[in-house]
Amino acid sequence: MSAVSRIEQLCIDKGMKMTGQRRVIARVLSDASDHPDVEEVYRRATEIDPKISIATVYRTVRLFEEANILERHDFGDGRSRYEEATDEHHDHLIDIQSGRVIEFRNEEIERLQERIAKEYGFRLVGHRLELYGVRIDKDS
Ligand SMILES: [Zn+2]
Repeated sequence: MSAVSRIEQLCIDKGMKMTGQRRVIARVLSDASDHPDVEEVYRRATEIDPKISIATVYRTVRLFEEANILERHDFGDGRSRYEEATDEHHDHLIDIQSGRVIEFRNEEIERLQERIAKEYGFRLVGHRLELYGVRIDKDS
């Protein structure tokens, strides 16, 4: 493996010890854009290093999450999904048939949520929004 992945760099910045297997897992997560669960991270990691165990993936993912490098999501199927934590906020639309996750950001929703918080006497510091849907068949 050549260059340092984004997540590996974040780990280094936080003073984490980076073993070869952690580096592989960091790379898999850096390359992912589809919010994989641990099983999927494990599958991809073992393509690079077959010696990685699922227990190591679980431990490493939890470690990255605790260091605020990864964000964990629950998209309603009981499996934790992960993505790189970024400052840039987005929300998720989940296709409940295919499991596909679409990222979006809507300024109207953002403003509306701030307004609701304010009405209750709060300044909004964060939110999570997940939309669940089925694809509309455009042919019928
Ligand atoms: Zn996302």
